[in-house]
Amino acid sequence: MESILKMGVFRDKVLVVEDEFINREILGHILEGSYDVTLAENGREAIEIVAKSKVPFSLILLDLLMPDMDGFKFLEETKDDEKIRNIPIIVMTSDESAEVDCIRHGAVDFITKPYMPEVILARCERIIELYKNKSIIRSAEKDELTGLYSKDFFFEYIRQIESHEEQKPMDAVVVNIEHFHMINEMYGRDVGDEILKLVGTKLPDAFITSVTKEDVTYCPVVLGCRPDSDVFYLYSEHNGEYGELFGELQEEIVRLAPVPHVRLRVGIYHNVDKSESVESRFDHAKLACDKIRDDFTKQIEIYSKEQNESDLYHERLINDMEEAIENKDFVVYFQPKYNIQKGDKPVLSSAEALIRWNHRELGMISPGDFIPLFESNGLVQKLDYYVWCGAAEAIKLWRDKYGVTVPVSVNVSRVDVYDPELENKLLDILNRNGLTPADMMLEITESAYSDDSTGLAETVRRLQSKGFKIEMDDFGSGYSALNTITTLPFDILKMDMKFVRNMNKDEKSLKLVELVMEIARFMNVPVVAEGVEDEDQLNKLKDMGCEVIQGFYFSRPVPEADFRAFIEKEIS
Ligand code: C2E
Ligand code: MG
Ligand code: MG
Repeated sequence: MESILKMGVFRDKVLVVEDEFINREILGHILEGSYDVTLAENGREAIEIVAKSKVPFSLILLDLLMPDMDGFKFLEETKDDEKIRNIPIIVMTSDESAEVDCIRHGAVDFITKPYMPEVILARCERIIELYKNKSIIRSAEKDELTGLYSKDFFFEYIRQIESHEEQKPMDAVVVNIEHFHMINEMYGRDVGDEILKLVGTKLPDAFITSVTKEDVTYCPVVLGCRPDSDVFYLYSEHNGEYGELFGELQEEIVRLAPVPHVRLRVGIYHNVDKSESVESRFDHAKLACDKIRDDFTKQIEIYSKEQNESDLYHERLINDMEEAIENKDFVVYFQPKYNIQKGDKPVLSSAEALIRWNHRELGMISPGDFIPLFESNGLVQKLDYYVWCGAAEAIKLWRDKYGVTVPVSVNVSRVDVYDPELENKLLDILNRNGLTPADMMLEITESAYSDDSTGLAETVRRLQSKGFKIEMDDFGSGYSALNTITTLPFDILKMDMKFVRNMNKDEKSLKLVELVMEIARFMNVPVVAEGVEDEDQLNKLKDMGCEVIQGFYFSRPVPEADFRAFIEKEIS
């Protein structure tokens, strides 16, 4: 295995075409110390070997006099061959007068028999070197420290291989030594270099072993480069399993420099799409690799096109958010809530404010697409503030217009709860609109309670003391333990939509709704049922004592102007 790796990851491949057994063996022997040598008995066989080869040959040594197909014929026949015409050919013969003829036929050099090992090796080396400089790139091709290819050479090499290669599935792999700078800082550059060398040599080895598995005679395509100080790229025949590959190497690094947080972080783009440029295949693998930066629960991240698209979509939403707030592209919708226990007819009791994003290019986006995203990066605070303002303005407008107060529940995200200014912000908004906390209810999702129940309980109690009513939203979805729920402060229980959705399905689900009603009764709080879509659900909930109903049965969330119709109907 090791022999494949001497030069970077690959040794150059040399094809010897020679009919005489003894000469073939001598040449093979001379070259095998420096090259990966393949032997052919005649021109015909040589053409077949090149055609089948997965990795391009760097050089052909061609005997002139051979039966079946001699050297001249070989040169003649292959001068237009896709795979052979780019390979330099050195002709070998005892007939010096043939030199000019051979060069005319396309050979690049000429060696006379008998074979002198030093001459042959020197010529081979020079021709391969010259040829690479000429046809590939003039920039430095190797990384001094690790012996791996330079990035440009590596990319070019892949392109070359693939111009010869049939559709073999390949993986692009990016490996980063996370916090590598700490090794340099704590142990000095020598140890740092030592580790880079270790990774640079062992990593391709490990890949070759993993791809080769049982078949030790098989020589897989595995290329490596070091594009950046602590980053390695590998291009390898597709392998489904990389799990164990990095463990041993990581252990060796830790043995050399036991620095906390230093680890190998890996991004893999499996079975690359070869219609993409080589560079972008590695960009994708790098994207996956960067995704798990500082995430110590994960060593390997697999690139997925769908995931990438969704990441890009999210990134776009994050970028567009602030401007959209300024442009008022976010619209506050209102969904009515009806009290169903105040006589025969449902009575409009309040509304819930629900945000919509009318994106200038992407159209209407529902909160499910952006609220969890904005919660994860804190942007939701700004958005919630915007909604609270919109809700307060609507309450004031309705009061001014119709002389009635329709309280509005607003969603308070878990991020807001940790804002020490929360209370002041809310009171300030209410003040500006001549409202009091009784006019605006606050919905806090149950799972926020379980995140940090004591911290949250304190905030909630403070808000309650100012007169705010707190609704525990999505009750039953957060799996809070029953005994903790009874100690948490809230004024209204908002039953999760799933309970209502399933209640017509079977007896058990109906019993669950009864159980939620029981809990609320025990805690002495009213219940709001969300997601009520039909009369049957409404009647059952009414019989169970549910006080308030919200759902498509009455209306979907609508813009403020449309919501006025519900108030007008109520007061007419
Ligand atoms: P939520 O607070 O539990 O809001 C209720 C969701 O149920 C709303 O979805 C509403 O449109 C939907 N809904 C109401 N009645 C029915 C029904 O009968 N059937 C069905 N299938 N659905 C019904 P929406 O507007 O898509 O909001 C989804 C979630 O996004 C909300 O769940 C809330 O958690 C969050 N959200 C919405 N607006 C805001 C906001 O301004 N701030 C924050 N922090 N979160 C918000
Ligand atoms: Mg809600
Ligand atoms: Mg809810």
